[in-house]
Amino acid sequence: MKKGQVILVGAGPGDPDLLTIKGRKAIESADVVVYDRLVGQAIFDLIPPGAERINVGKESSHHTVPQDQINRILLEKALEGKCVVRLKGGDPFLFGRGGEELELLAEHGVSFQEIPGITSAIAVPAYAGIPVTHRDCCSSLHIITGHQRAGKPLNINFPALVQTRGTLVFLMGVSALEEICRGLLDAGMEPDMPAAVIERGTTPSQRPVLATLSTLPETARTEQVKSPAIIVVGKVCAYSRQFDWFDHLPLKGKKVIVTRPRERAGTLSERLRALGADVTEFPCIETHPLLPCPAMEQAVDNIGRYEWLVFTSPAGVSALMDLLERTDRDVRALGPVKLAAIGPGTDRELRRHGLRADLIPEVYDGEHLGQALCRAKPTGKVLILRAQWGTRALTDALDGGTIAYDDIRCYETRYTAPNTDRVRGLLTPGTIVTFTSASTVTGFVSALGEDTDCSAITAACIGKQTEAQAHKYNLHTITAEHATMDALIQRIVEGESSWN
Ligand code: SAH
Repeated sequence: MKKGQVILVGAGPGDPDLLTIKGRKAIESADVVVYDRLVGQAIFDLIPPGAERINVGKESSHHTVPQDQINRILLEKALEGKCVVRLKGGDPFLFGRGGEELELLAEHGVSFQEIPGITSAIAVPAYAGIPVTHRDCCSSLHIITGHQRAGKPLNINFPALVQTRGTLVFLMGVSALEEICRGLLDAGMEPDMPAAVIERGTTPSQRPVLATLSTLPETARTEQVKSPAIIVVGKVCAYSRQFDWFDHLPLKGKKVIVTRPRERAGTLSERLRALGADVTEFPCIETHPLLPCPAMEQAVDNIGRYEWLVFTSPAGVSALMDLLERTDRDVRALGPVKLAAIGPGTDRELRRHGLRADLIPEVYDGEHLGQALCRAKPTGKVLILRAQWGTRALTDALDGGTIAYDDIRCYETRYTAPNTDRVRGLLTPGTIVTFTSASTVTGFVSALGEDTDCSAITAACIGKQTEAQAHKYNLHTITAEHATMDALIQRIVEGESSWN
């Protein structure tokens, strides 16, 4: 039997891109993932579809699984020969009970690893523009738990902390905030010492509250600060006004739904997140090569008859590469045929396979692709490999130039509807939905049901055809100047600054 193991993985403080590369690899190879709250959706999306997911946290089940039971779950699953990933917020060994979870495993000789995570104690201040140390004002950092056992006073040596003159970071301290500040004041810390409490740090809903030691409890009460939040006390907090970069990102907190197919959503979502957006992936279409596809097979077998090979999406390129792979061939089977791509995304897919487009139209749509091909004055035939329901704009343009072509449908678009409830809850004013093709518009509307009220959202469309499709469903639209991801993102950012 396969030997099981447990990998404790620190999931980082909230921003999914702060997961380590080693942590991501572990999640991707897991048979079982045991997780609790403070682990975000984008990290869950990395869990392999077939892996078992066990929630031992509070938020969704409304009760905590006792620690010894969690320990037993880890042990049992590992003894079944499984690769068990135990996902924890921040770093597992910093107030994460990671040590306790390993004890039982060690006793039973189960192998384990610990993959450190980026801790909220350092990353949350960093995202609020607070460097936890600075040569000009402190020479140590202290991380303290503010957790109180029911009915017991805080077990913190305040005089010792004040004497260090270092930066103090309290985790789990929101409900004891008043007592913490009082303790520090009573131990002699200056009342005007800069202090901060930062809620949901590193996430799109991050909220930093700046004050002084004496005013922090009152300010936090007025601002209704809730857990998870960390408290920072020390001169370094004053840097926040100057260095608060995250809260000034152009899309900070903006809700954006990304509708691309899962395998292509990655970069768009990541780039929007890096601009501060609160991204939800809603891959409501999937592309599948049509199998078998005798028309494409025959055309590829006779590729010498064509002068141009034309792609209107990366999926067309993938379908062709699939066919070559299935029939034990590679790109050399394509010979000297010239390649046309509708835009840079499709060209990028070609380049992944060692090819590059000879022609990309100035405007990335079917009509301009057709016109550009006409201008290239082909003497031979054109082969188009594209979706089942491709637009006529391309073939109309070729007809106009009396160019001979074969238009072959090599993949189909299927509509899917994952997590529709979550998405329905996001159809509120200000939410942006990105559409990168007409089919994503249809997929989105059909996933939610045509009678769903989408009047509050803005459809950010990559091009004219996508926009036309969005107008069919009466969506309010903004449209990229060129049909590229860069231009789409740019348009969203411009929209955001003009709406504010
Ligand atoms: N092991 C975790 C800490 C677990 S204790 C780590 O290394 O980050 C849980 C406490 O961490 C919370 O009560 C809160 O004080 C802090 N915390 C975790 N994530 C946070 C976030 N995104 N924003 C603010 N505080 C956070």
